[in-house]
Amino acid sequence: MDASLLTTLGLLDCVVFRRISAEKFEVMHKAGNWLDELLPETVDVKVFCFEQNSAYLQDFLVDAENLWRANKDGRIESGLWSEQLSTQLVRLEASAVVSDNQGYLIVNKLDAKYRQKQQTLQIARELLLSTDRISAQHDYLHARLEELLSQPDRAPTAQQPIAQALAQADLGVAILDADLHLLNSNPALCSLFDDTHVEISLPPDKLLLELFRTQYPECERVFSTASSWTGEIYWLNPPRQGKWLKLSIHPIKNDAQRVQNWLLSVSDVTQVKYLLKRNEKLTHFDALTDLPNRQYFWQQLESKIQQNLPFYLLYINIKQFKRINELHGHLVGDEVIKDLSKRLNAITHADDMIAKIGGTEFAVIMELNHLHTQISSQDQVQCVKFAEELINASCLPFYLSSGQKCKIGLNVGAAAFPTDTNSAEELMKYADLAAYSAKKKAVSSIAFYSKELVDASRKRIEMEDALRDAINNQEFELFLQPMLDLTSGKIIKAEALIRWHHPNGNLISPDEFIPLAEQTGLIIPIGKWVIKEACAILQRLSARGEEIKLSINLSPRQVSDRQLFEFIKNSVNNAQVNPQQLELELTEGVLIDNYDKVHYLLDKVRKLGMSVSIDDFGTGYSSLAYLQKLPIDRLKIDKSFVKELNENSQDSDGTIILAIIAMAHSLKLEVIAEGVETTLQKDFLKQNNCNIAQGFLFSRPVPYDDFCNLLGRQKD
Ligand code: C2E
Ligand code: CA
Ligand code: CA
Repeated sequence: MDASLLTTLGLLDCVVFRRISAEKFEVMHKAGNWLDELLPETVDVKVFCFEQNSAYLQDFLVDAENLWRANKDGRIESGLWSEQLSTQLVRLEASAVVSDNQGYLIVNKLDAKYRQKQQTLQIARELLLSTDRISAQHDYLHARLEELLSQPDRAPTAQQPIAQALAQADLGVAILDADLHLLNSNPALCSLFDDTHVEISLPPDKLLLELFRTQYPECERVFSTASSWTGEIYWLNPPRQGKWLKLSIHPIKNDAQRVQNWLLSVSDVTQVKYLLKRNEKLTHFDALTDLPNRQYFWQQLESKIQQNLPFYLLYINIKQFKRINELHGHLVGDEVIKDLSKRLNAITHADDMIAKIGGTEFAVIMELNHLHTQISSQDQVQCVKFAEELINASCLPFYLSSGQKCKIGLNVGAAAFPTDTNSAEELMKYADLAAYSAKKKAVSSIAFYSKELVDASRKRIEMEDALRDAINNQEFELFLQPMLDLTSGKIIKAEALIRWHHPNGNLISPDEFIPLAEQTGLIIPIGKWVIKEACAILQRLSARGEEIKLSINLSPRQVSDRQLFEFIKNSVNNAQVNPQQLELELTEGVLIDNYDKVHYLLDKVRKLGMSVSIDDFGTGYSSLAYLQKLPIDRLKIDKSFVKELNENSQDSDGTIILAIIAMAHSLKLEVIAEGVETTLQKDFLKQNNCNIAQGFLFSRPVPYDDFCNLLGRQKD
């Protein structure tokens, strides 16, 4: 099409020059008055030489000349620049072209394009601001209501402060009970759905849940695992325009870690979505990271499925991201996500597709470059390798603009098409479930979807439910295992070891449920029960005139609980127990991972008179440095070393034990050996000055009454 026609139509405002030689140009097409002012050398002439009136253009001409000299068909562009003329500011872009052995220079006035670009930036800015503000509102409300609701004996229906918090909120809020029945909601919620044109068939809270269920495959998992969730849902209410709603779902748990309420908060983000729509790029791309967004990813996933070739869907979640937001604020959180997305994107192969599908979630469609119809074990190896690359990239520290640095980890879940399923929805659901199971591990890891995973997750949920009830139903019991002084041969202490009388009649060992209790946070109430019960046992023993010590086990999460010390202190006081009779057992791992917290805690408990021993010694870090620094009293040699002492043992088998005893004694620490099952073991330990022994040789862990009998027999 002729350039002048485009100009007339207002689509183009440009000039075209033909290159005659390195210096000379011919004016082929002239546009508005701006050219005369920018390049006066072109006024009223057909052929002209450039007179260095625009520094930017002059610079571009150097590159252009190279293109023209090469004389191969092609085109280069200068990028946007602006020039201040006497009456106006113009935005220009130049292109150098070679076509049919002829060089051309085109200068385009691009005010419209520039304005559009500025507008896009402005939209992006507004968007970021408004979503930031909305997120902050949701977070604030969650925190406030969580605080109010989690106070014991607070009925969510009648409380004055809760009603106030709800009435003042700009967001729509619904408080539901554990079974998702509405307890309380606010006027803002109703007004979101207030529409005189349509009759709403469901109350707002039910409608929200229904929209969530139909629009997000993660729904089931969110409720069954009591997780928080935030995302956008769409409410279509013809004949009116639909509404986009930002929905946050948040479980509120009681002390026993049981969900007692669900909190829904909603805000209308249609306006934000409208801003997005005004710019095509922004509707398909995440404003923060520039990666494809959930909507776009969904489309691509559907069309990928149409091709009917096997591929993996990876679901990537950032481990404990909430902590970064809490510690450093949302802006820093955004910075980390941006940086991370760059790293992940750089690793993702050109054929694959990575998208940001949620606040802290990414997804990847991983192509398998073969034409087989099913996934092979080779493919799985390839997928693991890719996931490891993603994880490794995320492990390097993030340096923040504030000068600080922080670290994150990833949970990666994978589901295979068509091996696991051939529906887009289920693929997302399965990959999400797999990522959730990867979350259980302390370190970054990948998990694949499998039927066993679903079974295991169901079994775990059942066990978790039963475990929750166990405290209230008094299903726990502390067994006591005696510890003997090896010189006197007398019982001087006992270790309290928990047992669970499951309603199905089985006695469950702690190895089976303590790890789950750790993961779910139930260890906090269980641990408190152990402390209280141990104090009660000490009280009963002392009433019988038995002044022996009792040691209890503390797990990592308990040690991080800020209220632990106060709780121990109060329990000891309430039971009127002499603190010197209580000993705490911690493993080496706990000491190292929480060094500062543990140091602080141990200092305080020892000031009260309690003693501290290190459990399973020799299996962990065993660093002399911390042994010297930490306030501890005893080491417990792990039973695996004791086990090596038997009739078949080599001379070398006892050397670790001897080394531990020598080291402990030089640090003025006592040594306990656990897992002593034979006389041979006992004799070896006694000969080598081990102080205390514990094991089946003397007694298994037994109920309180049996333990009293053991003590009684000793007296006789
Ligand atoms: P642990 O602290 O190392 O406890 C010693 C374990 O060794 C006990 O297993 C005990 O029954 C077993 N044992 C004792 N003597 C012998 C022996 O001669 N031979 C062999 N083979 N084993 C022996 P249990 O009671 O099943 O407890 C397992 C683990 O569960 C404990 O290991 C401890 O880490 C944890 N645990 C037990 N009770 C509690 C508790 O109240 N709180 C916490 N946080 N963890 C607990
Ligand atoms: Ca122990
Ligand atoms: Ca142990």
